[in-house]
Amino acid sequence: MTAELIDGKAIAARVRREVASEVGEWVEAGHPPPGLATVLVGEDPASAVYVGGKQRACTEVGIRGFDHRLDRETPQAEIQALLARLNADPEVSGILLQLPTPPHIDGSAMSGLIAAYKDVDGLTAQSAGLLQKNAPGLRPCTPLGVMELLKTHEIPLEGAEAVVLGRSELVGRPVAALLLTANATVTSCHSRTRDLPAVCRRADVLIAAVGRPAMVRPDWVKPGATVIDVGMNRTDDGLVGDVDYDGAREVAGSLTPVPGGVGPMTIAMLLRNTLQAARLQHSPG
Ligand code: NAP
Repeated sequence: MTAELIDGKAIAARVRREVASEVGEWVEAGHPPPGLATVLVGEDPASAVYVGGKQRACTEVGIRGFDHRLDRETPQAEIQALLARLNADPEVSGILLQLPTPPHIDGSAMSGLIAAYKDVDGLTAQSAGLLQKNAPGLRPCTPLGVMELLKTHEIPLEGAEAVVLGRSELVGRPVAALLLTANATVTSCHSRTRDLPAVCRRADVLIAAVGRPAMVRPDWVKPGATVIDVGMNRTDDGLVGDVDYDGAREVAGSLTPVPGGVGPMTIAMLLRNTLQAARLQHSPG
């Protein structure tokens, strides 16, 4: 069996087109365009590339970008004050503090100051709590991207055995919560899990988010399973995922490549979240 390829690039492009069209309708209905404020502290080149990509993506779909670049030495109190201003600014629908921040800044505490209804990264404690309660709120972008891939490929989740490899706040935990909400039977694995291969082999849907190149071997995959590889590991051979792609292709029913799988989904879902945040802020009551 050769697995069907789950093409994240194509699916992300479709989500971006949908967001562009929905932003157009939103503005035509008389609303101000959604706005995304990004805050970058310092000159870390990788972070600058990420922020630049997010800002460009906004412009392409009609979302206004507010690009705040602060000197590396900016005191924490100034960042705090900027976030408070952005929380209160009606032109700003979503706020994103690019992590990691320089060492004198407590990035997690600063992100925590972002109002939940503007938390388009979905990573604050309040957003995480809303997710666990399955209450309305903004969800983290990469996990939303995983769910969008599964939905597009009409992968049955209700009653399915889903195994999530990794329990980070960024990926593993929220993915597990979203799968549970979708009525899957979810197992969360981590570095202390006993007999990982056997647990993974139970999965109808296997999500790998460990950050270890090609850790998931073909014999960890149940024949016909759906495998979503969140891993992005830079190696001498280039960017590779957490799944042994060539081997898993011969066993899985469908599989994401790296690159071109989950990666492109993250920004697409950030755009969708920004539009959702604008709607949340304009809904009556
Ligand atoms: P992380 O915070 O380092 O978490 C890794 C998780 O994997 C932890 O829960 C850890 O368990 C578990 N783990 C590590 N080694 C293990 C092992 N040998 N056996 C079992 N479990 C093990 O990583 P992350 O932020 O979730 O990211 C995971 C991967 O996804 C990375 O490659 C990252 O680059 C990628 N990523 C991609 C995107 C995207 O847009 N595509 C976005 C975010 C992250 P413990 O909790 O027990 O330590």
